[in-house]
Amino acid sequence: MIYHRDLKKNIRNEVSLKGSRKESQSWLPHFLAAAIGVSLLGVVLAATQDPAPRQRLDVSVAQELKTVASAPIAAQPTQADDWVDYTIQPGDSASVIFDKYQIHRALLELNEIPLVKKVLANIHPGKTLSMKLGWNGLQELKYPLSETRHLTVTRAGDHFSAKTIEKPVEVRRLSASGVIDSSLFLAGKRAGISDSLIMQLVGIFAYDIDFALDIRQGDRFDIIYDERYADGKPLKKSGPILAARFTNRNKTYTAFRFTDKNGKTGYYDDEGRSNRKAFIRTPVKFSRISSFFNPKRKHPILHTIRAHKGVDYAAPIGTPVKTTANGTVRFVGRKGGYGNVVVIKHFGGYSTLYAHLSKFKKGLKRGKRVKQGDVIAYVGKTGRATGPHLHYEFRVNGKHKDPLKVRLPNAPSLAGGDLSAFKAQTQPLLVQLKTLSSSQLATIE
Ligand SMILES: [Zn+2]
Repeated sequence: MIYHRDLKKNIRNEVSLKGSRKESQSWLPHFLAAAIGVSLLGVVLAATQDPAPRQRLDVSVAQELKTVASAPIAAQPTQADDWVDYTIQPGDSASVIFDKYQIHRALLELNEIPLVKKVLANIHPGKTLSMKLGWNGLQELKYPLSETRHLTVTRAGDHFSAKTIEKPVEVRRLSASGVIDSSLFLAGKRAGISDSLIMQLVGIFAYDIDFALDIRQGDRFDIIYDERYADGKPLKKSGPILAARFTNRNKTYTAFRFTDKNGKTGYYDDEGRSNRKAFIRTPVKFSRISSFFNPKRKHPILHTIRAHKGVDYAAPIGTPVKTTANGTVRFVGRKGGYGNVVVIKHFGGYSTLYAHLSKFKKGLKRGKRVKQGDVIAYVGKTGRATGPHLHYEFRVNGKHKDPLKVRLPNAPSLAGGDLSAFKAQTQPLLVQLKTLSSSQLATIE
């Protein structure tokens, strides 16, 4: 097992960061909850949700905080006796609950306020409905809408008034390091960071490191990230990661989060090169490759020598087909032996073609812009096809290349004003990351 050699050091690290928090700490409304710029991450996240209850492994400051965060959000009414905290049960409706407390009349009045009506119609089991009851029925009501927002209703004379209240959110800049012993997730737990933060880390380096196959004992990560707090407690969603370093089999990768002048957020290395490839290798989830790129293939139907200028991916009819890179739709329709086909033009003279499709994504038409990973059509066997498969072609300046072997270009690097802004912004993070990664992590048995 591996852990931070000494807890004090851990704390010292935090304290020293606190010292530099003047710039980094800010109060943000919760809706600025920074969206994650890596579109891939969503996919990875969805695929690997870990429902296992969080275990407390090592005692560390961050771990303590995390444990607090995973506790259900308790409504915090006054300690007066007339407040009732009701935990909503499965099958409960507002009507059932209000009947239970004999305040059904109040519900009729509350339903006059559209916002309250909507909230009460969508109450969730496990959440707490807090009600202040008086001699003439309901006086006040509170219901959490999110971790940082709740609805509050108060009686004012003979009617109710409602408002939503936002808690101020404080952003703290934190850091963590880990060395992998058995798994990345365990290393993350030992470092006191959430699974969601680990998944962000995976998303950031997914183009360079195959996390299923390449991870080795001794690999190390260092991250600097933001954690948002309300009432002194961290919110469930961690991040974003601002800077990360990952050493995999002695090769070190670095990434910094940056939002360019067009508002696009991504991760770049210290030279401003994107961490993403412009293309994903495979446009479809396939069962096998039924035909390879072959300039001298005998055609299975025509029985003549005809080059096979793409790759055939066997997959069931209806399997979604994704565009492998950002681009613009050049052609959607039927074209001879290709059957239903989509052609997409990408930056820098690249284009891709997807053939034998059963149908197109609704709304797809010439000139439409598409993003890497967007579904554009579905596998079929239209045109000259012996069975359901996707025929995929990859062209560079009009010349066919083997989609399985072509060197995939990186997404565009930062340039001009973006690059200088990036350098200025990431310089302090780079220094911090270097210090962090030179700190010793010891091994215990
Ligand atoms: Zn083919």
